[in-house]
Amino acid sequence: MTEPALEVRGLRKSFGAIVASDDVSLDLRGGEVHALIGPNGAGKSTLIAQIAGALRPDAGSVRLAGRDVTGLGTAARARLGLARTFQVSALAMELTVLQNVVLGVAGRAGGAWRFRGAALRDPALVRPAREALARVGLTGEATSVVADLSHGQRRRLELAVALALKPRCFVMDEPLAGLGADGSAEMTALLAGLKAQAPILLVEHDMDAVFALADRISVLVYGRIISTGPPDAIRADAAVREAYLGD
Ligand code: ADP
Ligand code: MG
Repeated sequence: MTEPALEVRGLRKSFGAIVASDDVSLDLRGGEVHALIGPNGAGKSTLIAQIAGALRPDAGSVRLAGRDVTGLGTAARARLGLARTFQVSALAMELTVLQNVVLGVAGRAGGAWRFRGAALRDPALVRPAREALARVGLTGEATSVVADLSHGQRRRLELAVALALKPRCFVMDEPLAGLGADGSAEMTALLAGLKAQAPILLVEHDMDAVFALADRISVLVYGRIISTGPPDAIRADAAVREAYLGD
């Protein structure tokens, strides 16, 4: 088997007396959606932040496609192929949909496109940007200004920006948050098609979506992973039901 897209080993992070990550280990394998679930305050966002490089762990390591990235920040990890999605603030509201994707790609490439105009005319940037927009169903909105998009369309645009960067893996913190029933269904279908391109570590509260999408589920409670397995095994796990699913 090829090495996992992500290997998290023994992560620990405390905030004062609170142990938010207590010896957390998990893998994200090629082709899978690995969902991370757990009650509020379990430590999901803290874990995602350490994987993305936004928060330094007290102990433990993160490997990306076999490479130890524990000492690297968010930008370096993004350049190595880690796409953390749904940071809404990353969209430029006054620019068009296509411009946002093109400039997202140009931004990661670094200094070569210091001038927006040049980037926006460069076919090497525009082509992958249009492909990504087609993928998320936003071709028809390419020239719309982001400020005029619906919430659901913005969410899909954020995904297009990540996709255009051709990542090795996606790390998503609640991609369905704030979406209605239609938006959730659309996004769920989109994510199901995306995992073949790059595996997805998915934090999500919508359990219908989690059980529909996930190949494996890890359950985090008080900073510890209490169980990891395929959806059927997680659904049947007595400790998980007691600690979280609670029905
Ligand atoms: P989740 O995303 O699963 O809801 P979080 O990772 O946000 O959980 O939080 C895990 C625990 O760590 C909570 O008890 C939370 O209050 C605490 N925590 C998270 N970030 C900080 C911080 N920056 N300072 C202090 N405590 C924090
Ligand atoms: Mg959270």
